[in-house]
Amino acid sequence: MGTDVRDRLGRPLRDLRISVTDRCNFRCPYCMPRELFGPDHAFLPRSELLSYDEITRVVAAFASLGVTKVRLTGGEPLLRRDLAVLVGLVAATPGVADIALTTNGSLLAAQADALRAAGLRRVTVSLDSLDPDVFQQMADTRISLQAVLDGITAAREVGLGPVKLNTVLRRGVNDDGLLDLVEYARESGHLLRVIEYMDVGSTNGWLPDQVVPAAEVLARVAAVHPLEPVGRASPGDVAETYRFLDGRGELGLITSVTKPFCTDCTRARLTAVGELYTCLFAASGHDLRAVLRGGADDEQLREAVSGRWRARDDRYSELRGRLPAGGPKAEMSFLGG
Ligand code: SAM
Ligand code: SF4
Ligand code: SF4
Repeated sequence: MGTDVRDRLGRPLRDLRISVTDRCNFRCPYCMPRELFGPDHAFLPRSELLSYDEITRVVAAFASLGVTKVRLTGGEPLLRRDLAVLVGLVAATPGVADIALTTNGSLLAAQADALRAAGLRRVTVSLDSLDPDVFQQMADTRISLQAVLDGITAAREVGLGPVKLNTVLRRGVNDDGLLDLVEYARESGHLLRVIEYMDVGSTNGWLPDQVVPAAEVLARVAAVHPLEPVGRASPGDVAETYRFLDGRGELGLITSVTKPFCTDCTRARLTAVGELYTCLFAASGHDLRAVLRGGADDEQLREAVSGRWRARDDRYSELRGRLPAGGPKAEMSFLGG
């Protein structure tokens, strides 16, 4: 492991999430509402994005400061050309022990093989409903639910399993499909993780009454399939895990709203344009692309990252409700979740 750099609350740096594109082929209203990300929306030109070589340099700097886990995300990461090339570069970076991908699954069937061959070991697929109509409502796309299900199956077949399935529940929209998702995950050997709908960004019109609290999710599932807690897989893991008493799998709950986990948050985020964010709810990031393109050597890049991490005191979710409302926040599709 690299140098152990700590932030102002004593938290080490362990995980890096990298958004590789701001584009997406879905328009999930809770993330990229079509009214704001419509045909006139200006996505970033390619020259603005970090190149794969630039991303790899940044990953090496983070790995030398203690990061062992890297996750590629977006926007939709599989829209970025030849993502498998980046997977190979990151997987080969000294210190990186774990490389994963979060995707909406729509392009996974065609790419799973190449990603696995390049060194990817784990994949998380977002899946909000098994009902085609509700799926369309949650994802606002012409792409079919079946394409996503085929992607999940392909991932398992090439050895990227067990696949984690991320479900965001919105009360009154998709929450009555919870048990169908539970059955699907149990039958197919995937790990379902239910995420509380968060007030990320400023565009999704989030309202607290649309959040289905994790405690309610747990009660609804346990009423049908009893569960017992097994805690978190590791301290920095965002999901609380429960095991089905009949031995048929596990359920993860991500309680970002009702039970924040900032105390254990060891995660940094890199946007597609190379900004370092130290919190999902931060208003701005630190421009590492300027450092890279300004000719910094590896040591200077390392210092830029460690200086930012040492200054970090973010704990938005723990302070939620006590902060002044309405300030600008970065969008989820920009930060990658
Ligand atoms: N496009 C990919 C996908 O959907 O998996 C990767 C990027 S997406 C921003 C990453 C994750 O963030 C997804 O699992 C998505 O469900 C989640 N997400 C987006 N907006 C959210 C919100 N407002 N609250 C909770 N989770 C959200
Ligand atoms: Fe796209 Fe993922 Fe956001 Fe949905 S959650 S709009 S798939 S980036
Ligand atoms: Fe980490 Fe910020 Fe989320 Fe707290 S609110 S867990 S500090 S990203």
